[in-house]
Amino acid sequence: MSKEVILIVGANGQLGTVLSQKLQQIYGNSHVITSDLFKKNDSEPNFITLDATDFKAVEDVVLKNKITQIYHLAAILSAKGEQNPLATWSLNMKTLFNVLEVSRLHKIQKVFFPSSIAVFGHNIDKENTLQYSNLTPTTVYGMSKVAGENWIHYYYQKYGLDVRSLRYPGVIGYQSLPGGGTTDYAVDIYHKAIINEVFECFLAPKTTLPMMYMDDVIRATIELMEAPKENISVRTSYNIAGISFSPEEIAQSIKEFYPDFKIKYNPDFRQAIADSWPKIINDSEARKDWNWKPAFDLKLMTKTMIKNLK
Ligand code: NAD
Repeated sequence: MSKEVILIVGANGQLGTVLSQKLQQIYGNSHVITSDLFKKNDSEPNFITLDATDFKAVEDVVLKNKITQIYHLAAILSAKGEQNPLATWSLNMKTLFNVLEVSRLHKIQKVFFPSSIAVFGHNIDKENTLQYSNLTPTTVYGMSKVAGENWIHYYYQKYGLDVRSLRYPGVIGYQSLPGGGTTDYAVDIYHKAIINEVFECFLAPKTTLPMMYMDDVIRATIELMEAPKENISVRTSYNIAGISFSPEEIAQSIKEFYPDFKIKYNPDFRQAIADSWPKIINDSEARKDWNWKPAFDLKLMTKTMIKNLK
């Protein structure tokens, strides 16, 4: 029987919804406490309403439930964040500080903090973005992730807190809706395709971005968290890669199933964000340290998304 008790902060979002279910399968429902600002439905086992900007509330949940691991997912994402930069900085940093401090004070064994490809800016090799590239983000969200990476590195160096992190690319899954990122179009497009609607894309046809199918994202997260501590050489955040494609290419893969599928292009403010991001991520450190390998290519992802959404 597992001794772990896991707290997921921001569990009702795009990633948390799926990650919570997977951790419940692995550890058992009674070993996973999910939390978010609001309850989504009555069937969520062990759900606690928790505002992670409230230090005392986070500490109470950790102590009452004898938490041993925390997955900190709460954040305001890239596109939404640009609408209110100061509030985004404040929420993303405050929630992280609370999780790190509570973890330090109460000797949490492992913490997960997701970073993002938004940490990169223009002055990088976009076709082969290395682990240790320049980090000069163009959004406040990206700035909060760079700062977060440095803070987790600091907590590891200074206090020995075992915080692990991945720079997620755009995440695509059928189970949940995205929460305001620049890669959200790659989820929405499938929802429109299955109801035979024309899809209006907020990015230009040739905008290639790094993406990853949800199963790979969840597996990468759990593989990183379960890797032996001595294998973890990157204590900021690991580059990880799945599939890189453009709106034109994903539309083409959908046409294999829906030959009449139509896409229109109407780029908005998110185009500038996408243009500042990498196209292809080099994830050789993750492959070397904990044997990371993605399983889904564009074709398999499209087939799986359509089958499940239908
Ligand atoms: P999301 O926006 O779908 O979910 C975030 C959740 O956090 C929401 O349910 C929200 O209610 C909750 N939250 C917000 N403020 C909170 C607070 N004060 N206290 C508690 N909960 C709060 O985001 P997601 O797509 O699930 O992303 C999860 C994490 O992964 C984020 O840190 C995000 O930056 C990172 N990430 C996501 C992607 C992606 O494509 N989805 C890509 C890169 C990185």
